[in-house]
Amino acid sequence: MTYVYDFEDGQRLIVENDGSDTFVALSSEDEGQEQSQSTAFNTGSWLKAPELFRTRGGLMLRIESKNAVEFIRVRGNQIQLLRSEQELENVERLKLKQSDESIAIKPMEPMKPIGRMRPMEMRMGGMHMSMGASEKEAQTEKRFCTQCGKPVQNEDRFCASCGHALSGQR
Ligand SMILES: [Zn+2]
Repeated sequence: MTYVYDFEDGQRLIVENDGSDTFVALSSEDEGQEQSQSTAFNTGSWLKAPELFRTRGGLMLRIESKNAVEFIRVRGNQIQLLRSEQELENVERLKLKQSDESIAIKPMEPMKPIGRMRPMEMRMGGMHMSMGASEKEAQTEKRFCTQCGKPVQNEDRFCASCGHALSGQR
């Protein structure tokens, strides 16, 4: 079961129940880039559709499961499970739409093609970017000759392959 709420500013709140977990995700478009984050809470499976309220402290989700009634507060980009009963009389109730999209199964963001590029292709103008390299490799900062692009030792003053004078300590 998934419910969504679209805000006027393009932000979208997605609430999904998968097994005994409730996933809450916020996504927004910022200068053409989609940003999203999601948080999972162990609430138990829902007994009924969640309810959404607009309170002074932010948005409040009321989730009724067979375990308990849970409240999840969404304020700014913080998603927080509240342990105490919330006063929700006299607050505006927002209408959640049922949706068939799923945030629990799919990863939130598909792999960007840049992540699949081999390290060789990331070397531009002698600059080496460690994207695509293993984490261990990225941690031990590798130097590359600015002339021919061959790897050089950190302490090398001249490139072993082409003899190019390497700049000093970075
Ligand atoms: Zn060289």
